[in-house]
Amino acid sequence: MSRKKFLLGNWKMNKVPSEALSFMEKAPEMAALASKKGIEIGVAPTFLCLEAVKAKAPKGFVVSAQNVNEHSSGAYTGEVSPLMLRAIGIDHAIIGHSERREYNGETSKACNLKIKALLAEGLTPVYCCGESLATYEAGETVDFVKTQIEEGFADLTKEEAKKVVVAYEPIWAIGTGKSASKEDAEKTISAIRGVLKEFFGETAEEIRILYGGSVKPNNIKAYLACPDIDGALVGGASLAPESFMELIEESV
Ligand code: PEP
Repeated sequence: MSRKKFLLGNWKMNKVPSEALSFMEKAPEMAALASKKGIEIGVAPTFLCLEAVKAKAPKGFVVSAQNVNEHSSGAYTGEVSPLMLRAIGIDHAIIGHSERREYNGETSKACNLKIKALLAEGLTPVYCCGESLATYEAGETVDFVKTQIEEGFADLTKEEAKKVVVAYEPIWAIGTGKSASKEDAEKTISAIRGVLKEFFGETAEEIRILYGGSVKPNNIKAYLACPDIDGALVGGASLAPESFMELIEESV
């Protein structure tokens, strides 16, 4: 089963619209290089920039939200729904990033509701999981991440599950410059695929699982060469167009 590699830049709370648009001037060049390499690429700007970035995105260049509410509409001040994202042509949303789990109290069970809401609107969830340094040092990474996967994917059908992208991001590797070794990343990602197999059988072979955590142009190739790693979710190194181009160039 061949899974197309996916490189998604998470801009977090960075870039005002003029900066986002300036990045997108290079998007046609990025898309051409990605297509030559046979990989899928995209970025996740803030809600504020989604529409403008989408308008500049070449065909096949993914524009993703960084979060979503599980309801379609109603009295949820400050929230944005899958229906609203779809209405402006957005078809991906990152769910359960560790920063949202930490600062906004998001649980895997809450993520499960968001995942279902996105799938119901035909959008692709990019579901993040990953352990803290204490969990890693206690040797409990696999058990911890398995629970996040079980809860996030609860009640999905095989057809739904294969539309979800997973991003395994050890929290201690995010924005720290301390990336996981490719052996550790592959071991955990292959364990994640194992849990998905228990739930969804061979469909698990179709589910893309990305690695995230201090991915840079000088280490991306090693991760993407691992059999179970299907791409990368990238924060810092996705912000400058030159660095994102370099990531694409070095990816495969
Ligand atoms: C992220 O934000 O998901 C991330 C992996 O950040 P960084 O690449 O900066 O570690």
